[in-house]
Amino acid sequence: MAGLGASAVKEEAVRVFRETWPGCEPSVAVAAPGRVNLIGEHTDYNQGLVLPVALPMVTVVVGCPSTDGIISILTMAKEADEPKRLVFPVPSEANPLSPGLPCWANYVKGVIQHYRAGPLPGFKAVMASNVPLGGGLSSSASLEVAMYTFLQQICPDDGDLMEKALTCQKAEHTFASMPCGIMDQFISVMGQADHALLIDCRSLEVSPVPLTDSSLVVLITNSNVRHTLTGSEYPTRRKQCMEAAKALGKESLRDVTMADLKAAKACLEAEVYCRARHVISEIKRTAEAAEALRCRNYWEFGKLMVQSHDSLRDDYEVSCRELDELVAAAMGVEGVYGSRMTGGGFGGCTVTLVDAAAVEKTIEQIKDKYSGTATFYTTKPSRGAHVLKL
Ligand code: ADP
Ligand code: MG
Repeated sequence: MAGLGASAVKEEAVRVFRETWPGCEPSVAVAAPGRVNLIGEHTDYNQGLVLPVALPMVTVVVGCPSTDGIISILTMAKEADEPKRLVFPVPSEANPLSPGLPCWANYVKGVIQHYRAGPLPGFKAVMASNVPLGGGLSSSASLEVAMYTFLQQICPDDGDLMEKALTCQKAEHTFASMPCGIMDQFISVMGQADHALLIDCRSLEVSPVPLTDSSLVVLITNSNVRHTLTGSEYPTRRKQCMEAAKALGKESLRDVTMADLKAAKACLEAEVYCRARHVISEIKRTAEAAEALRCRNYWEFGKLMVQSHDSLRDDYEVSCRELDELVAAAMGVEGVYGSRMTGGGFGGCTVTLVDAAAVEKTIEQIKDKYSGTATFYTTKPSRGAHVLKL
């Protein structure tokens, strides 16, 4: 569905809904966006700063409530593991949901289990998405937030956005075993058209930064590789950050300055030191980048993006050959302000800030230089989760 727009994705979902449950009509349709992070990588779980943008790419849920106490969900995502359709009773205190197979359903079950308002009715729902799965553009958060938005329509809550983002994050922690930070769910809930959001992951304060200059393009390049390694890299990085903060007597790396870190170098393992150096420098870069964007100082912003990439590659060690190739290829083009890996790393996407006049040339250059096959998306900052007309 990658090539389809949001309304075509919804139409497809409606078609499959009717095919799956003949005689039934969906009464609700909602969408929640994926995201691209401009800068501030691996800082959210260190209570730092992030600067993401919500994408026009969305996960759509269409469905209707039922009176039989049964939840029946179906995903149209080809990449999702089998079975694509799952049927289970509405959870109760005596009969809660627990994670299991298929993996994809855990994101949805987690949201249903942690949803506070209720009691929930049964429902039938189809999920469809044009966010690439596992591409680092946060299809997982968009799925969680879309499901939550759907539940709000069939069983209204108090509408608290913070609670919504935190509940979706909790679903990912407890049901998908991914100890992620708050960025992905936050931006999917709160994204604003024409703005990046500077999110302070300690105070949870959100400051919109305008991004409307038509001479500026945010280009996303999907490496189309994903190195799974052992799967424990993310929790390991997270633990190392906690370890560094603890050794320095602080709650998180947000409270540690570069001077504090340098002074404690002898007490830290070399690897832990480098991990912390990335996080502390990245938080500072993110604050500076938001300011540069406000002042339309794109060269400064681009310079910070490249520093971010280098730090992720050398200190945090979450880049890979393919992402480094994509960044190098983009940076060789006149009119490119900056480029970096985005998302968790080990594959997925890069984000490039480029003058509109140089976009075509940049894509050509990357195609030419990249050893794999890349996919490109030029994107506009879009709004957060919302209800769609049927
Ligand atoms: P990312 O969030 O960067 O896309 P993740 O590994 O965090 O990568 O999440 C991808 C996983 O989320 C998929 O493997 C799948 O289990 C689940 N997922 C995302 N979108 C959908 C969808 N539309 N239908 C089913 N599962 C989905
Ligand atoms: Mg994810």
